[in-house]
Amino acid sequence: MQRQILFRCPRTGMNVQQRIDDERPEGRTPVDSYVPVRCPACMSLHFVNTTTGRLLNEPNGQSGSTPRSA
Ligand SMILES: [Zn+2]
Repeated sequence: MQRQILFRCPRTGMNVQQRIDDERPEGRTPVDSYVPVRCPACMSLHFVNTTTGRLLNEPNGQSGSTPRSA
């Protein structure tokens, strides 16, 4: 069974919608299960929480973009 997952690419800041395979066993609710998702925005893998859509290394409480000067 597949389901849609929505996450925000930490590299490009784009909202990405992808399909993932939901292989959860029946009767079990996984907690903090992260799946590797191929990001079409930056072409790399992100680990996305299938329940919350959060990224594995995403800092909490960050809204908006952080200005970075190269
Ligand atoms: Zn990405």
